[in-house]
Amino acid sequence: MNFRARLTLFFVLLVLVPVGSLAVVLDRVLTTRQAGRDDARAAQGQIEALNLYDEASRAAQAALPRLTGDAALIAALRASDSARATAQARLLLARAGLSRIVATIGTRTIADVGDPGAIAPYLGQLTTTSGRALGTLDVAVARGGAFASRVEMLTALKVVIVRNGTPLFSAFPAAAAAKLPNQGAATIAGHHYRVSSLGLIGFPGETLRLSVFADQSASQTPLGSLGVLAAVLLVAFIVLALVFAVAISRSLQGQLDRFLAAARRLSSGDFSTPVPVEGRDEFAALGRAFNKMSLELEGRLDELEQERRRLRDTIRRTGEAFGASLDRDGLLAIGIQTAIDGVQAQCGRALVRSSLDSELREVAVAGELPAAGDALAAVEAQAERTLEVAELDTGGLSALAYPLAPRGDRGELALISVARAGEPFSRPQRDLFSYLGQQTARSMVNVSLHEFTRLQATTDDLTGLANYRRFHDLLKNEVERARRFNQSLGLVLLDIDDFKQINDTYGHQQGDVVLRELGRLLRASAREIDEPARYGGEELVVALPQTDLEGAYHLAERLRKAICALEVELLNGGGKLRLTASCGAAAIPDSARSADDLIAAADAALYRAKRAGKNRSERAHAAGTAGASTD
Ligand code: GH3
Ligand code: MG
Ligand code: MG
Repeated sequence: MNFRARLTLFFVLLVLVPVGSLAVVLDRVLTTRQAGRDDARAAQGQIEALNLYDEASRAAQAALPRLTGDAALIAALRASDSARATAQARLLLARAGLSRIVATIGTRTIADVGDPGAIAPYLGQLTTTSGRALGTLDVAVARGGAFASRVEMLTALKVVIVRNGTPLFSAFPAAAAAKLPNQGAATIAGHHYRVSSLGLIGFPGETLRLSVFADQSASQTPLGSLGVLAAVLLVAFIVLALVFAVAISRSLQGQLDRFLAAARRLSSGDFSTPVPVEGRDEFAALGRAFNKMSLELEGRLDELEQERRRLRDTIRRTGEAFGASLDRDGLLAIGIQTAIDGVQAQCGRALVRSSLDSELREVAVAGELPAAGDALAAVEAQAERTLEVAELDTGGLSALAYPLAPRGDRGELALISVARAGEPFSRPQRDLFSYLGQQTARSMVNVSLHEFTRLQATTDDLTGLANYRRFHDLLKNEVERARRFNQSLGLVLLDIDDFKQINDTYGHQQGDVVLRELGRLLRASAREIDEPARYGGEELVVALPQTDLEGAYHLAERLRKAICALEVELLNGGGKLRLTASCGAAAIPDSARSADDLIAAADAALYRAKRAGKNRSERAHAAGTAGASTD
C-alpha cells in the first residue's frame, strides 16, 4: 500500500468511525424522541376517550330518573318479579333511548335488557318510598362499537376495548387484539404502535379495558425528515472528508514526489534545480534543508573536484620531477609549486645560496600575493637563522619557510617558503609543508650526489684535470668537428722528465704534490687550452681546436718553459724543487687523420724529445711519412 492510499485510509477511518457512532446515537435519540411523542399522543387520546366515557356515563345518568320514577318498574323490582321487571325495562329502554338496563336486588339480577355491548353505565340506587335501599340500577346509553369508532375518529388512534379478557371492539383482527400488551410498543401487521391502556367501569361483574394505539408511521413525518436530514448531512460530511482526504494526500504526495525527483536529480549529479519551497510548514522547512544540503553537497563535490585536479597536477609534477630531478633549480620550482598546492597557499618561492658569504638568490617563484613579500622575507630570515622550519602570522598573512641544506658544511643553503592571506595554516598543513620540504631536501641531496659522481667520473682527483676517458670523448668530438668544418686540430702530449726519480728521492707524496702543481698550472692556462687532461701517470695532454702543427708546437714550448720556471715546495721543508718536461706536438691534418693517429703521432714526437735529451719539444712528422709514428 503506497503512502497516498495509507493516508487516505487513515483519513477515512478517522472520519467514518466517529461519524458512524454519531449516526447511531442520533438514531437512538430520534427513536426515543419519536416514542415519547407517540406515547404523549396515546396518553392524550386516552384522556379524550375517558372524557367521552364520562360524557356517555352522564348521559345515562340523565336518563335514570325516568326509570326510578317508573312505578311499574319499581313495583316489579320490589316484588322481585323478574319477568315483569324485564318487560317493563325493555319498554323503558326504547322510551328513554338507553342501550342497556341492568337491575340488581342484592346480588341477584332481576332484569337485564338491551345491548350486551353497551358500555359506560351509570349506577343508580333504588330505594323504597321510605328511603330504604332496595337495589341498584345500571343504565347506559353508549355502545362499545360506536364509542370506539367515535374515539378513533376524534383522536386518530386505533382503539381496542376488551371485556373480561375478550375483545368487545377491536381495530385489529380479534386474534391479534387478545395478545396485545397494555403499555409500550406493539407491532401489528408490520406497523409499529405505542400502546396506552386504562381500566373502565363496566356493568356489574365486568372488567373493561380500553387500549389506544398511536401508529408511529403516521407521526413519523417530521421526525423522519429530521433523520433524513441528519443522514444527508452525515453523508455530505463523509463525502467532504473523503474529498478533503484525497486532496490532502494528493498535495502531500505531490510534495513527496518533488522531493523524490530532487533526490534522484542529486544522485545523478544535477544540482541545478532546487526543490520549490512554499509557505512556512514542515515541508517548506524540509525543502529548505534539502536545498541547503544540495548546495553543501555541490560545494563538497566542487572541493573534491578541485582536490582531484590538484592531485592530478601533483602526480604530473611528480612525473616531471623524475625527469627534472637532475636539475637543481627545476627541482626547487616543482617543490615550491607542490608545497603551494599541498597547503593551499597563494604564493611561494625558493631561494638558494652557494656559500656562507654569498647572498640568497631567488631561483623559483609561484603564485601571486604581492603583499606577502615582507612576510616571506621575515619567515625566510628566521628559517635561515635557526635552520628549522619557521612560521609567521602577521597582519592577516601567514607564511611558512623550510630550510634545505644539501651541503650544510659548506654553507650551501636552499629555502622554500609559502604564504597566504586569511586563515592561518592548520597543523596538518604545517606538517605536510615540513614533509614536502624534507622530500625536496632529499632530492636536492640526490642532485648534489649525482653532480659529484658525474664530476668524479670525468675528473682526475689529484690534478683536478679531465681524466683519460673524458679526454677521449672530447678528442673524438673535436676530431669530428675539425673534419666536418675542414679545420685543423692540434695536440700536445707532455711527460715529466725523470719523474720516477722525484718519487724515489722525495717520496710518492712529493710526486703527488708535483702533479697537483702541474695540474694547477695547466688549469691556469685555461684561456688558451680548453680542457687539459691527465693522460696517465705523469703524462698530460692538451687538445687545441683550430690549431695547426706549428701552433701546437708553440704552445708545447710555452708550457715546457712554464714548467721549467715552476718551483715546487719540498714537503720536507728542504727548499724548492725544479723540474723539466718533454713535449710532443702533432696536428690534424698535418700529422694525422684520426684521433688515434693524432695521439700516436704526438707520442712518437714525445719519444723523440726524450731520446733527444729531454726538456724539449718535438713536432710530429707529416702524415703518411715513414717516420710518422714509428721512430
Ligand atoms: P722519463 O724522463 O723517461 O719519463 O723518466 P721517468 O722517471 O719519468 O720514467 P717513467 O715515465 O717511466 O716513470 C713514470 C713514473 O711516474 C713511474 C711512477 O712511479 C710514477 N708515477 C706514475 N703515476 C704517479 C702518481 O700518480 N704519483 C706519483 N707520485 N708517481 C707516479
Ligand atoms: Mg711517463
Ligand atoms: Mg716521465
